[in-house]
Amino acid sequence: MYSTNLTVPAPKIVDRQFKKPLLCGPGPCDVWPSVAEALTKPVLSPLCDELFNVLDDIRAGMKYLFQTQSNLVLAMSGSGHTGMEALISNLVAPKETMLIATRGIWDERAYEMAKRYGINAVTYRIPYNRSFSLKELETQLSKHRPAALFITHGDSSTGTVQKIEGLGELCHKYGTLLLVDTVVSLVAVPFFMDAWGVDGVYTSTQKALSGPAGISPVAFSVRAEEKINNRKHDPPFYFDIKLLAKQWNCYGNTRCYHHTLSPPLIWALRCCLQEVCKETLPKAWAKHAATTAYFHKRLQQMALEFLIPNPEDRLTTVTTVVLPKGYDYLEVVKYMIKKHNVLIFPGLGPTAGKSLRVGIMGVNSTIEVVDDVMNALTDALRALTKSSL
Ligand code: PMP
Repeated sequence: MYSTNLTVPAPKIVDRQFKKPLLCGPGPCDVWPSVAEALTKPVLSPLCDELFNVLDDIRAGMKYLFQTQSNLVLAMSGSGHTGMEALISNLVAPKETMLIATRGIWDERAYEMAKRYGINAVTYRIPYNRSFSLKELETQLSKHRPAALFITHGDSSTGTVQKIEGLGELCHKYGTLLLVDTVVSLVAVPFFMDAWGVDGVYTSTQKALSGPAGISPVAFSVRAEEKINNRKHDPPFYFDIKLLAKQWNCYGNTRCYHHTLSPPLIWALRCCLQEVCKETLPKAWAKHAATTAYFHKRLQQMALEFLIPNPEDRLTTVTTVVLPKGYDYLEVVKYMIKKHNVLIFPGLGPTAGKSLRVGIMGVNSTIEVVDDVMNALTDALRALTKSSL
């Protein structure tokens, strides 16, 4: 009836052919075959019993992954950034001080978010090619006595891993909550929320969990829970953990609606957790360590160097690789995708122009995948000889 009123004609949206590359950047990584199937499961309405049963399964699986007995465990609708945003906006009030241990771009994002909430964000920056000592963090804690310390466990922009063990105790000595980003470390690198005194933690699904992006598990300690329950400020409605805890039935008596959860992502996260619980965490950690050790050995055989000098600071999931002088990092990345359909990334933020970033994690943590990456890289370095650049 109104057809003559259309001022914008329907575009022709054609079918596209796409050959999926082998995903070996810092994320996303490839998904479990079972996840591809889980994504096609039936839609669940926001108030049906089966949805709440699935949420219960997810919470149980996440407690295992984070190694926490806390009840306040749920998943944010959104990618890893929503986890970051939820922790900061719920746990730090405007004008309170948040200390941000800064070595890569995720810490810079946390700073940017904190500023937008009117938080007094203070950075403590170290060179990008190492992680923090507990001693230097304690010096900063005693100087600023912040309400919270934000720190990244695995940094995908630099390829470094941060020791968290012992940090919770230090933070609590100064009345500080410990907030940790485990987006690119959880499942691949040991992490013990309760034993290490972590107060707020988030992760994402598209890294070592080998699922699709778009749903981000978070967990809060009892200390953090108290702060949330007694706070005077209101975080954004969509990120309000008090309200979300009711939707996720964290205390066992409130199955209710807050917003419409995405059923494919809920099914997919449940499926990833099922896979990791079947494999068990110790086996997943051991597998990631062994595959990456093999990868590093092969890099060394080619006389390639690591951007991170201290082996203990190197992250298992993302390796930052330095090429001999004369190679253009972007050209190497482009060649590998074009000729081999293998996707790796160049450096980012502080590592831009200084290294490649190669992600070996989740279902791609295998010898076969490392061999594919090494074959593609070897060919790229041969084809793009320094003299041809
Ligand atoms: N933290 C880390 C360590 C990350 O690697 C990423 C994403 N690469 C993020 C946070 C942000 O996650 P997302 O892109 O899923 O929002």
